Amino acid sequence: MLKITGLLKRYNGRAVVNDVSFHVRPGECFGLLGPNGAGKTTTMKLALGLIEPDAGAIRLCGEPIPKRAREARVRVGVVPQFDNLDPDFTVAENLVVWGRYFGLPDARLYAQVPYLLEFAGLAGRADAKVGELSGGMKRRLTLARALVNDPDIIFLDEPTTGLDPQARHLIWERLRRLTQQGKTLVLTTHFMDEAERLAGRLAIIDNGRLIVEGSPRELIDQHIEPDVLEVYGDGALGWMPLLPPGTRREESGETVFFYGAALDPLVAQLAETGLRYVRRPANLEDVFLKLTGRELRD
Ligand code: ADP
Repeated sequence: MLKITGLLKRYNGRAVVNDVSFHVRPGECFGLLGPNGAGKTTTMKLALGLIEPDAGAIRLCGEPIPKRAREARVRVGVVPQFDNLDPDFTVAENLVVWGRYFGLPDARLYAQVPYLLEFAGLAGRADAKVGELSGGMKRRLTLARALVNDPDIIFLDEPTTGLDPQARHLIWERLRRLTQQGKTLVLTTHFMDEAERLAGRLAIIDNGRLIVEGSPRELIDQHIEPDVLEVYGDGALGWMPLLPPGTRREESGETVFFYGAALDPLVAQLAETGLRYVRRPANLEDVFLKLTGRELRD
C-alpha cells in the first residue's frame, strides 16, 4: 500500500527526513514513532504528495508520488494532527462537503452520513454545529470524515492526542474495526501504549533517520531485558542496592529504572527501604527511551 525508498527531505540545508525506507502492507496498522521534530509529519506529507522530496521514491496505492498523487489520494483518508473541521457547518455538512472534494455525488454522500455518524459515535448529532462538540467528538468526526471516500489506506497523525482515556479507548476500538475491515492504517503517536496495542509493525525515527523497524514484541525482545523495576520519589536516586548480575540501571528525573532478567533479589532489598516502586514487564516505551535517549526534545 505504501513503499518508501531512500527518502530525503531538506529544509534550509538540513535533512529532516534522511534516507528513510519502509513499506506498509495491505491491512496492517503501521506505527511511525519518534520524538518531537523527528520527521514523522514530514514523512507523512511526503507520502501523500503534499510536499516534494529532494530524493527517493514513494509509491502509494501503486502510484508514484508526487507525480500521481491526485490519483492515489482518491483511495486515501487523512486524519490530520489538528482538527480542521469547518465550524460554520453542521456535523453532517462537514462530511458531505469533504466528500465533494472527491467528486462524490451528494445523494451518495447523504446516504452514507448515518453510517459514518454511527461509526463516529455521533448518531443523532447530524445537525449539531461543530462548535458544540467536545474534543473527543471532533476527533471522531475527523476520523469519520476520513472515511467518506471509502479509502483503502488511512493516515492518522496523533489521532488521540489531547483526549481523555474514555475517548482514546473508543478511537482505538474504531481503528481496530477498520483494520478488521481490511483497511490499512499508518499511525503516528507519542503514546507507546497506543502503538503497542494497535500497530502490527512500527518504525522509530529520530533526527530524520529510521533507527529500527519491527513488531512491538520483536523490538521489546531485541532491545530490553524482560523484567523492569521502577523506583521513584524521595530517596530513589540515592538507593544503592546490590545489583543482580547483568542488571542495567538508568535514571530519568526522580525515577531509577532497573532492567534485568530476574529482579526478585532487588525487590527483596526494597522491602526494608519504604521506597515506592513499580515492577512490570518491559514495554515499548523502554525501547523508545533506550533508542532515542531520555533528554527532552522541544
Ligand atoms: P515530527 O512530526 O516528528 O514532530 P516534523 O516532521 O514536523 O517532526 O519536523 C521535522 C523537522 O523538520 C523539525 O525540525 C521541523 O522544525 C522541521 N520542519 C518541518 N517542516 C518545516 C518547514 N516547512 N520548514 C522548515 N523546517 C521544517
